[in-house]
Amino acid sequence: MTVAVRAATLIDGTGADPVRGRFVVIEDGVIQRIAKAAPKGAEVIDAGELTILPGLIDCHVHLALGQENIQQRLLTPLSLNTAMALVHARETLDAGFTTVRDAGFTTRGVKMAVERGLFAGPRMRIAVSPLSQTGGHGDSMTPSGVNMWPGDPERPNGVVDGIEGVRRASREVLRAGADQIKIMTSGGVLSPNDEPGATGFSPEEIAAVVYEAHASGKTVMSHAQATQGIKNAVLAGVESIEHGIYLDEETCAEMKKRGTYLVATLIAPLWVLRRAEKDPSAIPPYALRKAKEVVEAHRRSFRMAVEKGLKIAMGTDTGVGPHGTNAEEIAVMVENGMTPMQAIVATTRTAAECARVDTLVGTIEPGKRADLVGVRGDPLANIALFKDQSCVAFVMKDGAVHKRS
Ligand SMILES: [Zn+2]
Repeated sequence: MTVAVRAATLIDGTGADPVRGRFVVIEDGVIQRIAKAAPKGAEVIDAGELTILPGLIDCHVHLALGQENIQQRLLTPLSLNTAMALVHARETLDAGFTTVRDAGFTTRGVKMAVERGLFAGPRMRIAVSPLSQTGGHGDSMTPSGVNMWPGDPERPNGVVDGIEGVRRASREVLRAGADQIKIMTSGGVLSPNDEPGATGFSPEEIAAVVYEAHASGKTVMSHAQATQGIKNAVLAGVESIEHGIYLDEETCAEMKKRGTYLVATLIAPLWVLRRAEKDPSAIPPYALRKAKEVVEAHRRSFRMAVEKGLKIAMGTDTGVGPHGTNAEEIAVMVENGMTPMQAIVATTRTAAECARVDTLVGTIEPGKRADLVGVRGDPLANIALFKDQSCVAFVMKDGAVHKRS
């Protein structure tokens, strides 16, 4: 069965200029060619005046996290959490995100349910349980002694120490279905026991995780906000730095040399501030203070990364903020130094490379899976239109139309 999607304007995700009046010719969910006319006998899907782009990719989501406050989280059974993750998956796909890299807590069953077509959602690359040192960003032990995230049969405990500890935990998350290993090499904003400027995991511990991931053909993504935590992770060979709040010139140069990706999640601290404003019980006081403290440095680091030409892949930390609002990050990236086309490439081709799905998706080119998004208007003139759900009028994943309005 041949399908041809007529695009008024086509932006292919490679950074090339838009072209007008093209047909994306698709067979069995795979893009065959870009043509000026539909092949004879093809079913034509007329996308009207839409601009067609590759399906968007978010390299840092948490589908299993929601907007609940601490009390609600403590009252949520695991099975309800799974159901919520599937709702979040659908909201994410509705917003035009056809692939996500999940940075922790989403289980293999959620990914499988979407892969089997039981529920609508994006293609996923999951990290299962993030690894953290005791007292680090991933340690959810509260001062009262209640562990907010103790691990469960599908999500191994990720709070570990020492080379043997991290080695075993790495193997456990890989056994539980991790596509990449997530580690915390610095403190963070939402964690009760540390500061964003604190270093986490020793260089030797990070090296052991990197070894185990690479031995399985997988990558490592590092939550790294503190300068030393970023540096340790980069030098140990992780593939991506998440957040990267306190980047310095030296580490930037090292990332550039090695091709380390930056997934900045600029929107994440802003979401924390907004949630605190709406519902003070949703955000503990320590997290509100830390979010305020990091915003400026975060922007500065991102601007430096853009200026130095680092590989930047779009990521948001949804879960911290509402699922389906991922595209706000694209606009914030442009506010902080990217051109609209750079931000689009960061959310398509570069994000696909970062999530290791670039042989499948990320550009509209022959041989890629037919993941397409169609938006009303010209995103190069108005990058903010991605975040307006009424502008995201068409979503196709694997050649199947998910949304058309
Ligand atoms: Zn995160």
